[in-house]
Amino acid sequence: MAKNFLSQLTGSFAMPAAENPTVAMVEAAYKHHGLDWRYINCEVLPKDLGDAVKGARAMGWAGFNCSLPHKVAVIEHLDGLGASAEVIGAVNCAVRRDGKFIGENTDGKGFLQSLLEVIDPNGKKAVIFGAGGAARACAVEMALAGLTHLTVVNRNPERGKVLVDLINSKTPAIAELVVWNHNVTVPTDTAIVVNATSIGLYPDIDARLNLDMASIMPPMVVADIIPNPPRTLFIRDSEARGCRVIDGLGMLVNQGVIGIKYWTGVDVDARVMRQTVEDIFKS
Ligand code: NDP
Repeated sequence: MAKNFLSQLTGSFAMPAAENPTVAMVEAAYKHHGLDWRYINCEVLPKDLGDAVKGARAMGWAGFNCSLPHKVAVIEHLDGLGASAEVIGAVNCAVRRDGKFIGENTDGKGFLQSLLEVIDPNGKKAVIFGAGGAARACAVEMALAGLTHLTVVNRNPERGKVLVDLINSKTPAIAELVVWNHNVTVPTDTAIVVNATSIGLYPDIDARLNLDMASIMPPMVVADIIPNPPRTLFIRDSEARGCRVIDGLGMLVNQGVIGIKYWTGVDVDARVMRQTVEDIFKS
């Protein structure tokens, strides 16, 4: 039988790229499922992004992830956008479909998937801390999944207002802004509380949200998108209050699972990927 030495290619464009563990997680899944696919982690300067996308096209890549600072800038180099990426206005995953690179946002979809494993946002109210790129992706996906009401809590009022306006204008949910200049109390009818800020990210692992933890109580579900460390102070404090919690590894792993499905068509085992990143963050 003729041998095939031509692997299918995928990868990532980011700056910096060295500390991004996605390559280890994705290649662990490829290996586990016997897929002859590769994921190449590339450091790409903003000025070279267009050339990088052209290169991926020329080399027949099946797709690629885009991380900071390219998530918005990449859009002009693509051939179209998926529905939620269009609303979010940012792409972290490009997928080759019929020879065209289509931009998707798997950050938000990955978050929604990990949320759905615990609670369905349909018909519920949520409070989200943060209004940056990740908050935007999580908020839009929850709103498109039927959330009725979203309170955005953000320090910078302009950034908070942009997200509130986006939810109110582009999704069926109703959003309001709380400017985060005080110790915030979460309303008792809240079903889902999300930390989508960078508070708690390594090395600032002792940082706390300016939030009255006495207002966090069951049956609220608390999600933190910080992947490193997975058991943030906010997760531990919320667990101590008796709440069900979702850590940031869920979002990281699920965005990988969704990206691989887009590229290869294969549903990979999330546990293999989770184990890989858990081992990485432990060491
Ligand atoms: P951005 O820089 O776009 O946004 C950061 C947000 O955090 C802003 O809302 C900012 O508020 C807020 N913030 C930061 N520090 C503070 C503080 N001390 N007090 C109050 N608010 C603060 O970052 P991203 O949205 O891209 O990423 C946010 C986090 O999400 C990162 O830590 C990243 O690791 C994580 N992430 C996790 C993913 C996963 O798969 N688990 C995927 C993507 C991101 P303000 O507007 O007032 O400055």
